[in-house]
Amino acid sequence: MKKPAMRLLPRRVRAAWLALVACAGLIACGAAPDPQLEVTGPTMGTYYAVKVARPPAGLTADTLRAGVERLLSGVIATLSTYDPASELSRLNRNPSTDWVPVSAALYPVLAQGQRLSAVSEGAFDITVGPLVNLWGFGPGAHSDAVPAPELIQAARERVGYGKLELRTEPAAIRRQRGDLYIDLSAMGEGEGADQMAAWLESIGATDYMAAVAGTLRVRGKNALGRPWGIAIEVPDPEQRSVQRILPVTDRAVSTSGDYRNFFKAGGKRYSHHIDPHTGTPVEQSLASVTVVLPAGTDSARRADGLATTLMVMGEARGLALAEAQGLGAYFILREEGGFRELTTTAFKRIAVE
Ligand code: FAD
Repeated sequence: MKKPAMRLLPRRVRAAWLALVACAGLIACGAAPDPQLEVTGPTMGTYYAVKVARPPAGLTADTLRAGVERLLSGVIATLSTYDPASELSRLNRNPSTDWVPVSAALYPVLAQGQRLSAVSEGAFDITVGPLVNLWGFGPGAHSDAVPAPELIQAARERVGYGKLELRTEPAAIRRQRGDLYIDLSAMGEGEGADQMAAWLESIGATDYMAAVAGTLRVRGKNALGRPWGIAIEVPDPEQRSVQRILPVTDRAVSTSGDYRNFFKAGGKRYSHHIDPHTGTPVEQSLASVTVVLPAGTDSARRADGLATTLMVMGEARGLALAEAQGLGAYFILREEGGFRELTTTAFKRIAVE
């Protein structure tokens, strides 16, 4: 069956849009900007975009591109379920229920996933992969059909973060079932943004934006000496426009939405956010969540995972969790004839900085 364009375009478009808006301030103001390097390219089935204002001596567009692409290739080689040769794919094929060693690169992502599961009482679950794949949102075939109840039930039996144990020194995992399948797609873009940020700082960049699709790290100021302007899209597959531009500096930002990666069947809409407790895509009016955290080690990965977590939890539980955790979070809800916004206390403070 032909795949709908919805499923193939979204994240590419989002990254390009994000990069565009981030420089809109320069055009509007007409002032002579400071030097800035910009590179963009494909990664993880989507796009990355990096801008470095006032770049350190010796950094060129070519060395910037080579540096970030080397890092992103490393993230794919570790975390991808789309690359059969990645460490995660090899782990997923390994039927062992004994301790299996994992690399120093993979372990912290698994550990973060388990922490998010605990805090969300299983709304976020890195073992949800069999359901993601069954509903056609993973690396396999996309059928745009609702799976049979018995297939959903069979996949649900393989899911549960409590079936996965982690151990440090040496880093290893143990699965209760040999067919447990781990999906880290909800945190991979953030991992890429964090790794790019760490490398940029190691080479002396003080003002940058490093994004993989809708997840990014920013530090310092743009080429005009102003905070970076991050576009949050109107969560509508029929249009490509900006709901809000968030001026940020020294932050990690991640948006998760249900308005690009979905299919329709029998008059219903099914998105790629799966409720592990029901085995089905979440049904709700919440269309997107943007999480904004202070920049720091792993902050984009955490923001990325949290944005997905809040999407799965939905408007009421998600907002309550975000407030309880002091998170900067911006919710956009679909309503008759338009959208409604909800923000946490921490987000209100960020938005007026
Ligand atoms: P997010 O909201 O950030 O994440 C949603 C995703 O999380 C779902 O698609 C699902 O995978 C997972 N998920 C759903 N429900 C839950 C839940 N309850 N708990 C935890 N996780 C959940 N895509 C391609 O098309 N081709 C590629 O080659 C490709 N390579 C990739 C390589 C890597 C290393 C990674 C990390 C991802 C890759 N992807 C690829 C996937 C793609 O880029 C996105 O990461 C993915 O579709 C989800 O990102 P998102 O921002 O759209 O949504």
